[in-house]
Amino acid sequence: MTTIASRLQAVRGRIADAARRNGRNPDDITLLAVSKTWPAEAVREAAAAGQRCFGENYVQEALTKISALADPGLAWHFIGPLQSNKSAEVAGAFQWLHSLDRLKLAQRLSRQRPATLPPLDVCLQLNISGEASKSGIAPAALDDLAEQVASLPGLRLRGLMGVPEPSADEALLRRRFASLREALEALNARGFALDTLSMGMSHDLDAAIAEGATIVRVGTAIFGERGYPRR
Ligand SMILES: *Cc1c(COP(=O)(O)O)cnc(C)c1O
Repeated sequence: MTTIASRLQAVRGRIADAARRNGRNPDDITLLAVSKTWPAEAVREAAAAGQRCFGENYVQEALTKISALADPGLAWHFIGPLQSNKSAEVAGAFQWLHSLDRLKLAQRLSRQRPATLPPLDVCLQLNISGEASKSGIAPAALDDLAEQVASLPGLRLRGLMGVPEPSADEALLRRRFASLREALEALNARGFALDTLSMGMSHDLDAAIAEGATIVRVGTAIFGERGYPRR
């Protein structure tokens, strides 16, 4: 087995263990392999080991890999901050966007999503780390943005994504992830039918699964430590 294949197996084991500890079905949790900064060869290796969903942060780098792999069985998720002038590339080449954080970007993506493709699955990125980070929308702005995004053609609002501040404090991480779950539950109580909680990375996926994660985004534990981010 290659290194990537054995690390993938270990991560799948972690997911299954965390699911069982919390009375959840492991099949309800999707592993998104975050391949940012790694070459197409690494993605190919993971795909050969059965991995289907890949997460990318940089548009140009991702497009190179998507065309190098040219495998219609793979699903590509954009998970990083997205500049408006790169929205057309994401609308044309990705199945998912996890980091939607403003109406203008949503409107552009809605116009740019090719009619030949199914709607782009999107998550709104909510700021769950308070003062510690500026990325993601403020909780007070969530309801309005959710309503506006849900009404746009070409997009399908699936749920919420969040990134807590890095911490070794398990109880703090649990509270951050719980706040994302509660925000999703509040939207669903108002009539939405959202099914996706994108939360948890290499170091905190166990806490995220305990709080209801349905997609965990894992890079380092599969591909190894990243060097400098490339563009
Ligand atoms: C890089 C990245 C990940 C993966 O992080 P690891 O710690 O390498 O597992 C997950 N989510 C987002 C938004 C990222 O940018």
